[in-house]
Amino acid sequence: MKGAALHSWRSREIMATLSLRNVTKYYEKSMKPAVSDFNLEIRDKEFVVFVGPSGCGKSTTLRMIAGLEEITDGEIYIGDTLVNHVEPKNRDIAMVFQNYALYPHMTVYNNIAYGLKLKRIPGKKIRLFGREIQCMRHYTKQEIREKVEQAARILEISEYLDRKPKHLSGGQRQRVAIGRAIVRHPKAFLMDEPLSNLDAKLRNQMRAEIILLRKRIDATFIYVTHDQTEAMTLGDRIVIMKDGVVQQVGTPAEVFNRPKNLFVAGFIGAPQMNFFEAKLEKDENGFAVMLLGERFPLNEKMNAILREKNISAQDVILGVRPEHITLSEKANHPALEASLHVCEMMGSELHLHLLLGKKEIIVRVPTLGLTDAEIDGYSDSRAFRLTFVPEAMHLFDCETQENLLY
Ligand code: ADP
Repeated sequence: MKGAALHSWRSREIMATLSLRNVTKYYEKSMKPAVSDFNLEIRDKEFVVFVGPSGCGKSTTLRMIAGLEEITDGEIYIGDTLVNHVEPKNRDIAMVFQNYALYPHMTVYNNIAYGLKLKRIPGKKIRLFGREIQCMRHYTKQEIREKVEQAARILEISEYLDRKPKHLSGGQRQRVAIGRAIVRHPKAFLMDEPLSNLDAKLRNQMRAEIILLRKRIDATFIYVTHDQTEAMTLGDRIVIMKDGVVQQVGTPAEVFNRPKNLFVAGFIGAPQMNFFEAKLEKDENGFAVMLLGERFPLNEKMNAILREKNISAQDVILGVRPEHITLSEKANHPALEASLHVCEMMGSELHLHLLLGKKEIIVRVPTLGLTDAEIDGYSDSRAFRLTFVPEAMHLFDCETQENLLY
């Protein structure tokens, strides 16, 4: 990227905080709300990702921020301005959709320039009848050219400016769509599943490009995806939604390490966290989890949290991530006997699908340092002994599904 382009972006001093306060959306009064009591403060230049399964209200929330959807209740602020009734075109934000929506008959240059040609900006001030009047004008051809070329340099598509979209790859088209948004120098970028039409390899590449783009243009981003990997890799903070309700807001590390409830625990992380019906027990030594006749004691920190929350012995759902289960060799460790169901060789790791009683669970085993014979040995093995350290255990209330250790 050229230094001049970078400088010009960084020199803009636009504060783009966004605030959603008790935002609710009903498409039909008789139905459940599509979005319910959504609260979030987005910092200037923050990259926030809305993630959740299809239909959980991500796009609706994004569209309400853009002004494309009316809100039923609550308030949305961009900076200090209440924008509930501000027209989309006056909100100074740009939206990038999954179906790039490029004009097929126009060149890349004209696709990017199109919005600028229509835009009116403050021009000369004149005095009329003793009053100062602000005139509006269009960008000049030269100004448009500079902006388009600058965006093209940032996105590294300068050499395609004369091509039509049909002569571009999916990734290049997506960059043109982003280019069309960035020439407008919006306060914030809203992106709705921008990579979902790309194949897996290109999606990984574009994900890295979005991380770079974000560093270059230093704006506020709100990004919608159903893909937890995309959310984890892109977001400064992630908002996890289900059925129109925010489940947790946190950094990728927070939502991964300290999921607030069973839904978040299952949604974040791949392969998914393993869940077991277990019992939380308490004796004079403190709390322990009983699972299939084995006793797994909790550590001091976990004991302190449970004591502080006044939690007593109860049925729980125990959650353990596939990478946090260890294959135990020591006979004196609490360990569970499991039989091999399927062994998947993923390259850098094995995914062992094991049967623990009737339940199938997944264990990840790194292959680094293993010989080929040792790797093959896993798929020939019939039985394994599993164990986990206290730090690997997540405990959820069976009824509320809340994380007891949160
Ligand atoms: P997501 O983006 O998470 O897939 P949406 O925000 O698109 O979810 O949808 C949330 C809910 O609102 C879904 O139940 C969906 O069926 C409903 N919905 C979305 N758009 C409309 C609409 N225009 N009219 C009626 N219901 C809608």
